Amino acid sequence: MTSRHPVDTASLSADAIDDLISYDASLFTLDPKVMAQAEAPVIVMDAHGVPLFANKNAVGFAKGIRDGLFPEIYQLIRRTLTTPGGVVEMMTFEVQRGTATLELTALPTGSNQVMILPRDVSMDRNLREALIDSRQRYRDIVEVSSAFAWETDETGKFVFVSPRGALGYRADDIVGRFPRNFLLDTGDQDSEHVFRSQKAVRDVPVWFRRSNGTDACLSVSSTPVYSREGRWTGTRGLAHDITEQRRRESEVSTARNRDRLMTYIVRTMRDEIDPLMVLKGASEASTRALACSNCVIFKRNDETDELDIAAGDESKDACEVAKQALSQLQSTEEPFDAQIGEYRIFALRCHYHQRNNGAVVFMFNADHPEPTDGERAIMTEVSDQVGIAIEQAIQHERILTLSRTDGMTGLLNRRAFFEELKRRHSRLQRAAEPASLMYVDMDNFKLVNDIHGHQTGDEAILALTHVLQDNVRPADLVARLGGDEFVLWLEGADVNAASRRAKVLMKESAILTKYSGDKEHPLGISVGIAVHEPSSKEELQHLVQRADQTMYQVKKHGKGRFGIAAAPGSEDPAKIED
Ligand code: GH3
Ligand code: MG
Repeated sequence: MTSRHPVDTASLSADAIDDLISYDASLFTLDPKVMAQAEAPVIVMDAHGVPLFANKNAVGFAKGIRDGLFPEIYQLIRRTLTTPGGVVEMMTFEVQRGTATLELTALPTGSNQVMILPRDVSMDRNLREALIDSRQRYRDIVEVSSAFAWETDETGKFVFVSPRGALGYRADDIVGRFPRNFLLDTGDQDSEHVFRSQKAVRDVPVWFRRSNGTDACLSVSSTPVYSREGRWTGTRGLAHDITEQRRRESEVSTARNRDRLMTYIVRTMRDEIDPLMVLKGASEASTRALACSNCVIFKRNDETDELDIAAGDESKDACEVAKQALSQLQSTEEPFDAQIGEYRIFALRCHYHQRNNGAVVFMFNADHPEPTDGERAIMTEVSDQVGIAIEQAIQHERILTLSRTDGMTGLLNRRAFFEELKRRHSRLQRAAEPASLMYVDMDNFKLVNDIHGHQTGDEAILALTHVLQDNVRPADLVARLGGDEFVLWLEGADVNAASRRAKVLMKESAILTKYSGDKEHPLGISVGIAVHEPSSKEELQHLVQRADQTMYQVKKHGKGRFGIAAAPGSEDPAKIED
């Protein structure tokens, strides 16, 4: 006899299994009482789908079938009757509280009837769907974001990467490798830590190298993964590419820094009133702002049209290098950007209304890092600003020159002469050198005007101007005090030198006679000289008085000659040449 005890199928031998599936009809007699009391719902239907029997747990369903609420069931009946092994099917029905999913096991009973064992799997199904939904939701979110998801195992190796890959690599190229294989700086151990963190971390920036070799900054967040037993098994997280954001941030901060430095330079320039000091301020502020070793500014000289150094470190070496850079700059239209000797040089031209009026030479020490684009932009902006400042300096110099010169002759005017004389005189007190002051007044000039007119008078004034200019040295001063009155300061001239120079002047001024009003009153000059002796402590005012008075004494004496004033404090009369 075959015993039918519950058995562990896993331990059954092949013979025993054959034994199990062999057919024994006596085993299939179903007791209607058992069916009626069974916990599992049971329905028996005829071939037309009319319920013939339902136990207590299936009675509701059977009523629904009878009322025709579940027409899908008829097809199931038909199929079951033609399928010897019966049918197992999932069916979803509309019910009062939504939908219900039933797993229907339908077995043909032999007498053209079908026994149905329904099992409510709504919960299983709903759970499964919710799970699928939630997995899809996470997948969709990761896929649409710029981030990629990753997971590492406890060795720190990638075991998962979003299917579309990352940084230009395919997911397969990443899985199985370590994050350090992709780091930009392979020595950067700390960056790798986020990928094997046993604590949750957020937004750690890590620099990677893309598959195309370019740099990428990723912001990585991670959370540790634990097994059911609480053992740490790895880390997973998200990484998103913030390279572009970083680049923009860095651009903004560079621009802000550039503005700050430029504001500093412009403010320093603006705080100065004297245009030459403005250039000096620009040079000093640029040197500090750009941390360069020197910033030399060249300015166009209004008279010579040459570019001269107007600001910057004027030590011989620096000037030499700056001048070399300038000559290179002038030979091309381009800014000069090269090494000269020990210095890395950037030289730019300055303009005002398209006219080149100067240049700025930035000199960096050789160990200075290569200037950034931002620093280059500052240099360009400084040279633009300096172009305006140079123009102001040139205009200022023009005005200054005008205010210091006599309009008709171009000689120094009275005010400028005495200002300068004050400086020269006080320098003499220290230098212990001689000098001579020479007053010159035309004789009978009024008559020139009266007889020949003012224009001839003017010509005569200019003729004397040339005579005086031709007989002075570069260090001397010549001025027109007004009308036909002139004055000369002869630097270093003692009494002998002064008389020699006076004699030459007397001789050369003979050309003035051609302008004379009449022969009895020839146009000539009277000269009064006061000599400053090296040891003299005489005040400037007295020296001026002695020269002026001597000139009047000459006039009184008969004009057309020169006189030398007696020494200061002496009662002697002036010594007048015959
Ligand atoms: P003296 O020999 O004593 O010096 O007399 P003078 O005739 O030279 O006359 P004085 O020096 O007293 O006067 C100078 C005159 O020069 C008076 C003025 O009309 C004239 N004058 C002043 N400025 C100018 C000028 O710019 N051009 C001309 N043509 N004449 C001037
Ligand atoms: Mg005169």
